[in-house]
Amino acid sequence: MIMFNIEQYILKNIDISNYSSFHTGGKADLFFYADTVEKLKSILSYVFKNSIPFFVVGGGTNILFSDKGLRGMLIVNASSEIELFESNIKCSSGVKIENLMAFCLKHSMAGAEFLTGLPGTIGGAIYGNAGANGFEIANIIEEVELFSNEKGIFSCDAKCMNFSYRNSILKMNEDKKVISISAKLNLNKGNIEEIKSKMKKSMVGRVKSHPSKLVNSCGCFFKNPSQLLNGERISAGKLLDLVGAKNIRVGDACVSKKHCNFLINESNASSSDIIELAKKLKDIVFKNTGVVLENEVRIISEEPPFLSVNI
Ligand SMILES: Cc1cc2nc3c(=O)[nH]c(=O)nc-3n(C[C@H](O)[C@H](O)[C@H](O)COP(=O)(O)OP(=O)(O)OC[C@H]3O[C@@H](n4cnc5c(N)ncnc54)[C@H](O)[C@@H]3O)c2cc1C
Repeated sequence: MIMFNIEQYILKNIDISNYSSFHTGGKADLFFYADTVEKLKSILSYVFKNSIPFFVVGGGTNILFSDKGLRGMLIVNASSEIELFESNIKCSSGVKIENLMAFCLKHSMAGAEFLTGLPGTIGGAIYGNAGANGFEIANIIEEVELFSNEKGIFSCDAKCMNFSYRNSILKMNEDKKVISISAKLNLNKGNIEEIKSKMKKSMVGRVKSHPSKLVNSCGCFFKNPSQLLNGERISAGKLLDLVGAKNIRVGDACVSKKHCNFLINESNASSSDIIELAKKLKDIVFKNTGVVLENEVRIISEEPPFLSVNI
């Protein structure tokens, strides 16, 4: 490990709203930008050793910070290392999905096309077992390199990651603060034209049904409920549409006209506005259908240990 004075890179009192794609949130007492794996490992060793409360963010596309920010350190994981092997790709957890897609295309590696257009990083996708079109990242995970206070660096295969719908062992045990450092993805050499065509199909599907990536949103705010309505499984977006969610807003926080499960900060909404809107939507769905929605987006409280709050 390269030794450097980590403290010189720690900033104080930094606005963190640019690290959530809602573009809301206050200031973090401490801030660290980890643009390499070495820096990520070093800062994790430092916060564990000094018992500094911290929160790791990747692309911030599934996070809502408090308007009061964080009383601890925000670590932005922007590590971006990718290596090619014969039957897998090893990438650091801060690699953006769009960069992984470009790499797969360049090297004709097949198997990850379903992720095309998904915002965020590999680390965020692993944490929440992100997926689309019937596939999830769990399907291509060979091994994840993890870092925890108790064990230091250790590896976990897909089985021990305990993936399920939008869930993983990391999310189930969020209080343990286990951070993914890198992952080996099980991909194989494929036909470049087939890879391109699958990527295009995935992208076209997204453009059709989702609002643009440029709007201030964190994608689907609520999980699809497992609870049935009149014996049928209905998506959260459909339920919200049924109860007229499109016409509900709180200040600048509103519901996308294209996809009712996307809550949007139109310009100057606060995190509190977005939470109030989400609560109203949850209430109205429950009153009209009896279905209880659960938030998918992680709402992070101001105070340590920064566990996600259910509204
Ligand atoms: C327009 C849009 C479309 C979307 N479409 C989809 C979709 O089709 N399918 C889907 O599943 N999701 C979708 N999302 C949600 C989001 O993009 C995914 O959940 C994504 O995987 C989050 O990655 P991230 O890097 O942005 O995570 P972040 O928002 O940065 O973090 C999410 C959680 O992961 C944790 N985390 C991040 N990195 C690490 C790490 N290295 N180690 C441990 N924990 C970590 C964070 O602490 C946090 O709790 C969409 C979002 C948007 C804005």
